[in-house]
Amino acid sequence: MPKPIVSIVKAGENVVLAVRKAVSLAGGLDGIVNSESKVLIKPNIASRDKSGCGKITDARVTQAITKMVLEKKPKSVIIGEGSAVGYDFPDLQDTMKALEESGTREVATKLGVPLVDLNTDRHREVEVPNPLVMKSVKIAQTVLESDVIISVPVMKTHIRSAVTLSVKNMKGVMPGAEKKKTHRLGLELAIADLNSIVRPHFAVVDGLMGMEGLWEYPDDCVPMGLVGAGRDPIAVDSVFAQIMGMESKEIMHLVYCQEKGLGKCDPGRIEVAGVPISEVRRPFHTAFAVMRKRYPGLIIQSEKACTGCTGEIISPLIYIREAKQVEKLKGLTVIIGEAPEQWEGEKVVAIGKCAQRLKDRLPFVPGCPPAVDAITEKICEVCNIDVQLVFQKQEELHRTKYGKSLH
Ligand code: SF4
Repeated sequence: MPKPIVSIVKAGENVVLAVRKAVSLAGGLDGIVNSESKVLIKPNIASRDKSGCGKITDARVTQAITKMVLEKKPKSVIIGEGSAVGYDFPDLQDTMKALEESGTREVATKLGVPLVDLNTDRHREVEVPNPLVMKSVKIAQTVLESDVIISVPVMKTHIRSAVTLSVKNMKGVMPGAEKKKTHRLGLELAIADLNSIVRPHFAVVDGLMGMEGLWEYPDDCVPMGLVGAGRDPIAVDSVFAQIMGMESKEIMHLVYCQEKGLGKCDPGRIEVAGVPISEVRRPFHTAFAVMRKRYPGLIIQSEKACTGCTGEIISPLIYIREAKQVEKLKGLTVIIGEAPEQWEGEKVVAIGKCAQRLKDRLPFVPGCPPAVDAITEKICEVCNIDVQLVFQKQEELHRTKYGKSLH
């Protein structure tokens, strides 16, 4: 059996050329896209951010691969995404706003390709073959009607699944409630179950700007200048995890996908084309390592928390840090996700609907996910921080250095 090929290409100035080279080195689209194909291009636009910030797929990469697909004259091409929990409020933080802000809408308009919000699409319950943890899952109709899926993730670490690349990117095909369900059931097992239904047929990784640690912009941005591609998304993710300094056997959702026969993640069973991994390897910092360094003495208990609360807790921490009040966070425990039986410390805040069992016992912020301002207020109250000072800093940040990349 031939080994799956994964390409790594240094992009330089010409992203289009780099994507073309990466796709070609990985075997091209022949035999995958033909005149009968209904193709779904699935970038990772989980939140409202700008291209190039490292949190979302750069629209230039989406444009380059979409153009290559169109050259095959398929029956149809759609760009689809369903942004993350917390970024799925109609007209406020929804997918369409995220697609617009990222520049993806402009790309779709230019290429004459429809954009679909997979969160508001019709959804159908599908049984998972040989489930590990999720017997059935609701999936957007547009995805089920596509016969070729091309995943176009950005290169990032992830607080729950170590990395988020082309197979984790498929979470966007589920509506919000299903996304949350995967965290309750066990995210890494659920990702493997999901991919047994919607395993991408091809992956193109935007490794131009990576994101590590807590995804704080711009502190956690990692300029990598890479793109990569492959027909086996598990192998693609394995290679890019290795570039980020991890071993593929540590990435449990890839191991589960391999066990399910969805692809290969063992390095010895993958062929790398283009630049060798050793030449571009740059270990990425994990969320927990950055948290310990940047917020010493702060504990986040986050059993089974989803992207909603995990993402929303970061902004108040940034504002408090920028207001030079980090010292006062020492000894604070923040509980998100499933309410634990025990916690450490005397200063404790519980956040989000999943932890609401604690609402009469601890300072609590309701919501699913809760509003950033409400979290900021509660943390400031518990830690005796001047909340007005923090809000003032928040205003300044939005006007200046962070622009709209911070929410
Ligand atoms: S409360 Fe928070 S962790 Fe729980 S489902 Fe909602 S956003 Fe996710």
